[in-house]
Amino acid sequence: LPTLIRKKRDGERLEDGEIRSFVRGVTEGTAQEGQIGAMLMAIRLRGMDAGETLALTRAMAGSGRALAWPPAWRGLLVDKHSTGGVGDKVSLALAPALAACGCKVPMISGRALGHTGGTLDKLEAIPGFQATQSPQQMRSILERVGCCIVGQSEELAPADRVLYGLRDVTATQPSGAAPPASILSKKAAEQLSALVLDVKFGSAALCPTQDSARELAHSLVRVGEQLGIRTAAVLSRMEQPLGRCVGNALEVLEALECLEGGGPPDLRELVTALGGLLLWRCGLAGGAPQGRERLARALDDGSALRTFEAMLGAQGVPPSTARQLCTGTPEQRRGVLGRARVCEELPAP
Ligand code: URA
Repeated sequence: LPTLIRKKRDGERLEDGEIRSFVRGVTEGTAQEGQIGAMLMAIRLRGMDAGETLALTRAMAGSGRALAWPPAWRGLLVDKHSTGGVGDKVSLALAPALAACGCKVPMISGRALGHTGGTLDKLEAIPGFQATQSPQQMRSILERVGCCIVGQSEELAPADRVLYGLRDVTATQPSGAAPPASILSKKAAEQLSALVLDVKFGSAALCPTQDSARELAHSLVRVGEQLGIRTAAVLSRMEQPLGRCVGNALEVLEALECLEGGGPPDLRELVTALGGLLLWRCGLAGGAPQGRERLARALDDGSALRTFEAMLGAQGVPPSTARQLCTGTPEQRRGVLGRARVCEELPAP
């Protein structure tokens, strides 16, 4: 490893075999944390070309199991991933809405990275929610419910689990090869048919400018397609929080409003835009506008909310808790989730 770290530190290109060897060290635990941190910083400062990024993604995807699905699901397996933002609770509403439209969504999400919130942290505000699910459990949930939202594990993208955590504490998270490899290694393990990426730009995003977001989007789409996933990307603004709430429990409440056909317009706009693209790309809608309408119907007719309730039940939330959360009054919902010690309203003119 010191030789590989030195090579990257000095701006040289790493061969595919060398990248696989680094990722093997990460997965098997033979690489020391200091060595992994040094390599992450070298990659961050020196960059990786398109070939190295693909090799890193492939090696990370191959660090765990690839999920296997029934042939009847071919074409229906879809997912969305965001590069991270503040108040971004899109996945909580989108995964069940897509499942309610007939898709299968085996979403492997992340935790907070830098200042951006994590989907799993938000869901864990719900008492009983289990983010860790085995591949067999995921398949059973997809059969019954149509979607699940889980984390990386010993079996699923284990290299990303280690690297993601270390990027967060070594200030190496923001750009370069790491985000594409991190995001797409999880998606490759899911064996998807179609993927849409929400690449955020602005002061609260990993990419500060629209140009840097476009560059990242191109890299994500190129690597996604090379992995055999039909991949699209959307650039969205992150100069203010998405919706009105920031904080795990508060964001669950706002996602529930969206799942009931309400909620803030910017959240609904993004959920339906991303979902519409996916319904079109997997053939369940004739075009993105029709897909958008279909997805909006699932939010408005209660089917997306019922699917969310079923997903919570399948992922460890007691049925009475899931019911109260999904059908209760705002007060009852807040009672289920508890209240943060500090909760502040910041009115904006
Ligand atoms: N989401 C991920 O899974 N990884 C990143 O690097 C950024 C966002």
